[in-house]
Amino acid sequence: QVKRDGKGGYRFFSEDLNISSARRVRMETRMRNAIANQEFVLYYQPKQDLTTGWITGMEALIRWPSDEGMITPGEFIPLAEDTGLINPLGRWILFQALQDTQIASKAVGYPLQVAVNLSMRQFQRPGLGSLIQEAIQATGIQPEQVELEITESMVAEEVEKAINTMQELRSLGVRLAIDDFGTGYSSMAYLRNFPVNTLKIDQSFVQDLVKDDSNTAIISAVIGLGKGLGMQVVAEGVETALQRKLLEEAGCHVGQGYHFSYPLPLPQLIGLLKDAQNAASNT
Ligand code: C2E
Ligand code: MG
Ligand code: MG
Ligand code: MG
Repeated sequence: QVKRDGKGGYRFFSEDLNISSARRVRMETRMRNAIANQEFVLYYQPKQDLTTGWITGMEALIRWPSDEGMITPGEFIPLAEDTGLINPLGRWILFQALQDTQIASKAVGYPLQVAVNLSMRQFQRPGLGSLIQEAIQATGIQPEQVELEITESMVAEEVEKAINTMQELRSLGVRLAIDDFGTGYSSMAYLRNFPVNTLKIDQSFVQDLVKDDSNTAIISAVIGLGKGLGMQVVAEGVETALQRKLLEEAGCHVGQGYHFSYPLPLPQLIGLLKDAQNAASNT
């Protein structure tokens, strides 16, 4: 049964993994049809360079429109993972995101970067490198425009194997990011062995930034860690001007969050990028 989740969205699938198997089968069928019918859409959330104010790129975030509203990834990605449907879905996401980025880059006249989230199952599946390669060739995008986001938990289990996969991906020329940093199994010690370009600080750290206090010290330390390892540091979940200011003062490179923009469908993203360009050239 579809229920309002109180945030303007709808809770469609229970996050509880104990839901009945009959219900799971129904959802699975519905998802399989949605993939076949191309019902999914990608939204894009801009990322802003905190020093220059320039929008350097965006993160692709999947959405599933339904009659009752938008179904969020937190509700269906876990099931897609469990059932293996993440493989066809993930393939679609990759091709679509790269193609859309080409369209947006042409519209604004400079190469945008796109960050694409990978799931555990995609990351561990043999042939991921060829799939990425195929998507790059099919869309004609430059590999360095593509950033793949993985989480700490995906690399925590079989560290050696994960590092090999990361190296294989990097050899294609794409960038790698650690998403939600600070929430998972602490890979602090391993972090320097990971061939990653970007550290994305989890939004929980950013949300704690409500005034200039000890929380600033914590996030400054995390930013220092990433920078010390030569990584680009991105803060996600930036909602206020104060958070933006404190992050910039702490040396964070890039911000992403509702303060800059909500995730947007492609045409609106292009509109926002053009407005930002016009505003910059008028000053
Ligand atoms: P994530 O990759 O960490 O994405 C950031 C999430 O924070 C997004 O939620 C985004 O809409 C939300 N967000 C952005 N700015 C703010 C803000 O200022 N405040 C708050 N409170 N939230 C903000 P979303 O789109 O619901 O996605 C949730 C998660 O689902 C993602 O977390 C990611 O792990 C997963 N996901 C989304 N799209 C994909 C996809 O295409 N493939 C895979 N495998 N996973 C995806
Ligand atoms: Mg992400
Ligand atoms: Mg994140
Ligand atoms: Mg997340």
